[in-house]
Amino acid sequence: MALVQCKECGKEVSTSATVCPHCGVPNPAIFEQCTVRVHRKAKFLGFAVPMDVFVDNRKVGTLLNEESISFEVDPGYRTITVRAFSYPTKEKTFKLVEGKQYTIHTYLELVWIVIE
Ligand SMILES: [Zn+2]
Repeated sequence: MALVQCKECGKEVSTSATVCPHCGVPNPAIFEQCTVRVHRKAKFLGFAVPMDVFVDNRKVGTLLNEESISFEVDPGYRTITVRAFSYPTKEKTFKLVEGKQYTIHTYLELVWIVIE
């Protein structure tokens, strides 16, 4: 029996649970995936430096200026990490709601992540 994150509270629940034992939400392990798009904004500094993008420590792609990648992830608490050569690694954790679409903006100098 596998454990996944509850779609509401993010704590571990069984895939066969009908109610989350932590927060009480029904069907805590049944959900639609979220679509996440990560867009790297154009900035002058470091424009040629590739930026690797990770979700929960799994690499999902590499971006140059003005490039985007899209991917599907499970709802819940997902940590987006961006990493590029000598720039500081930056990461941020977002709570993603099932079935929703998100766009995350990032750029290199500040390695700043904005979700909208
Ligand atoms: Zn829960």
